[in-house]
Amino acid sequence: MTSQEEIEYLKSGLDWTSGNEKIDKFIQKRRLNTDLYNDVVFEWIPYNQFNEIKEIGNNCSITVYSAIWRNGPLCNNKYTRDSNKEVALKCLHNMQNPVDILINEATKYSTTNAKLLVLYGISQNPDTNDYILVFSNENFGKDCIICDEIYTDIQYKWCKPCNFISWKSGDDKIDSLIQLKINERSDTRFEWIPFNQFNKIRKIGKGMFVSIYAAIWEYEVTLLYYNDSQKLLDKVEEFDSSCKIYGLSQNSDKKDYILALQKEYCMEYGKKYCKNCGIKFTQIRYLWCKPCTNIFTKWTVENEKIDDLIQEMKLRTNSCFNIVFEWIPYNQLH
Ligand SMILES: [Zn+2]
Ligand SMILES: [Zn+2]
Repeated sequence: MTSQEEIEYLKSGLDWTSGNEKIDKFIQKRRLNTDLYNDVVFEWIPYNQFNEIKEIGNNCSITVYSAIWRNGPLCNNKYTRDSNKEVALKCLHNMQNPVDILINEATKYSTTNAKLLVLYGISQNPDTNDYILVFSNENFGKDCIICDEIYTDIQYKWCKPCNFISWKSGDDKIDSLIQLKINERSDTRFEWIPFNQFNKIRKIGKGMFVSIYAAIWEYEVTLLYYNDSQKLLDKVEEFDSSCKIYGLSQNSDKKDYILALQKEYCMEYGKKYCKNCGIKFTQIRYLWCKPCTNIFTKWTVENEKIDDLIQEMKLRTNSCFNIVFEWIPYNQLH
């Protein structure tokens, strides 16, 4: 192509409108500056071109989705398209000046094919009016989709400055916790903490569902290792303003999920907090934890006579003010 033909070609794709003059001008300018041999042709992409839209992460101002772009970007020959292309949609919401922010964001990214993160174009969700940056999804890995810097934790795609995590644990309860707490649009920070950020980990104690460790992170912390994600969730959802939870982690062998709490917790473990599940005792004075008592009394013993005795004793203990008579498995005694 001669340079005149190139300009004609790039102008030919300008028969659409974004509905916003500023954006139209921006796209035209960007398009006419295309290096046809190295760049993708920047374009306005109608939202109905996207299928299989799935959320992969968010923070307070940005949500990222994976999607299939039906027509796909123009191939190197500039005539055919690479159809059904997997793309990443970076959706900007709750913006004061959405058009300016969109243009500012789009300017940061390259349309050069050789770059890891290629910006194909922009779009808009007609339902929310949120503007969207459309990226290649191929090398979507080491760099944060929001700030383009390397992830703080590459394995879990966690970016600390953006408070953004793009990772599914496979455990529905943990995933909803991540959605709710880490990606939460609020000021109370709850973050993903890469396990290797904990130092000098030493064991404090152990109960049925939780093991307690002291460790050094940015400051001294208590770590609660849970082998049961529901118990971990109970701890997170417990209303306890006296002990801050900093975040969630997972140890290297991936057996346990871990909560990092204020260091003061370990001093109160077994005194104010149940040794077995880690939540506050129902009756601190009697070291009585209602959820755990319910579980323990479900245990049965083989000897029927002992069983009968336990049942009888239980009938007599109808409140927490009596000692709950129960079978205690030997491995619970240290
Ligand atoms: Zn980031
Ligand atoms: Zn308990």
